[in-house]
Amino acid sequence: MLHIKAFTFNPFQENTYLIINDKKRCWIVDPGMYDQREKIHFNTYLSANGLQPVAIINTHTHLDHIFGVQVLKDQYKIPFGIHAKDQPVLRGAPTSAMIFGVELATAPEPDFFINETEKLKLDDEELDVRFTPGHSPGSIVFYYPQGGWVIGGDVLFNGSIGRTDLPGGNFETLLSSIRTELFSLPPETIVYSGHGPETSVGHEMRSNPFLQ
Ligand SMILES: [Zn+2]
Repeated sequence: MLHIKAFTFNPFQENTYLIINDKKRCWIVDPGMYDQREKIHFNTYLSANGLQPVAIINTHTHLDHIFGVQVLKDQYKIPFGIHAKDQPVLRGAPTSAMIFGVELATAPEPDFFINETEKLKLDDEELDVRFTPGHSPGSIVFYYPQGGWVIGGDVLFNGSIGRTDLPGGNFETLLSSIRTELFSLPPETIVYSGHGPETSVGHEMRSNPFLQ
């Protein structure tokens, strides 16, 4: 089985996730650790639990989801994967950082691209990838049917949806992604979002004000 550990980091209160298998190998999803205290907290968790990261996989590349990428790539010698359509967003991250008044000198280079037609493999476990543009042009979500959960990035939140006013965002595209790619999952599926508390597909189908 795959298990999830959540952290909340940086001035944007972004959720970073670990997806861990029974051999204590793990993916790091959307590493947003920003200051020294957050980086130490994260590394201490990994070492105290004997966890071995194998790759960084991102739901998208807005700056609050990539603050920790370069330092983790350097430290653990692990590759960084994104959807190819998010490359323009990644390249624009240092400019966004200046606008938001936070530090991000250079954008990390992606090492591989994640395609929605493929599955991501961690030893004998697999994650489904779904393409969910709208919040950013290359947004993807990671679905684990056996565990009944999906890591949804900034597509769908508990009671809200991702913003669509940033470059490459589109409101109608986002609503369509949610309806076709998330609301087609079993209603009991837990959604781990990029910000805020977890929710479920069924709860958002019933009560999300943007999707009634
Ligand atoms: Zn975002």
